[in-house]
Amino acid sequence: MFCTTCGKEIQNGSAFCPECGAAQQRVNMPVSNLGGYVNSSNQSAIQKVPYNTMCIVGLVVSCISLILNFWGLVGIAGTILSVIGLTNCTHRNENGKALAVIGIIIGVLSIFYGLIAVLSLSM
Ligand SMILES: [Zn+2]
Repeated sequence: MFCTTCGKEIQNGSAFCPECGAAQQRVNMPVSNLGGYVNSSNQSAIQKVPYNTMCIVGLVVSCISLILNFWGLVGIAGTILSVIGLTNCTHRNENGKALAVIGIIIGVLSIFYGLIAVLSLSM
């Protein structure tokens, strides 16, 4: 364990720090003796909800497909990635659902653009 005052490493379970003499809070003390100091460091750590990378990748690929359409192939990839991202978000409660939905819309649109381009070339 480490001294709560000076940060020096001290023997586990020591009541006082040999370096600076500060009294140490024992980890193994019963809850009633700690008087409100229980896990204060754990509670202060606010969990950040992460963004789902698949949602971001799906949106980026869909946006790329608007420029580099490749007969809608990139749009199909973007749509699939966005759908995977959306299901991942829902399962893991992560951020990025809006990104995935936008990715799907742009992806589907670019598939249609691709189809129109293919049809107009073949006619
Ligand atoms: Zn100390």
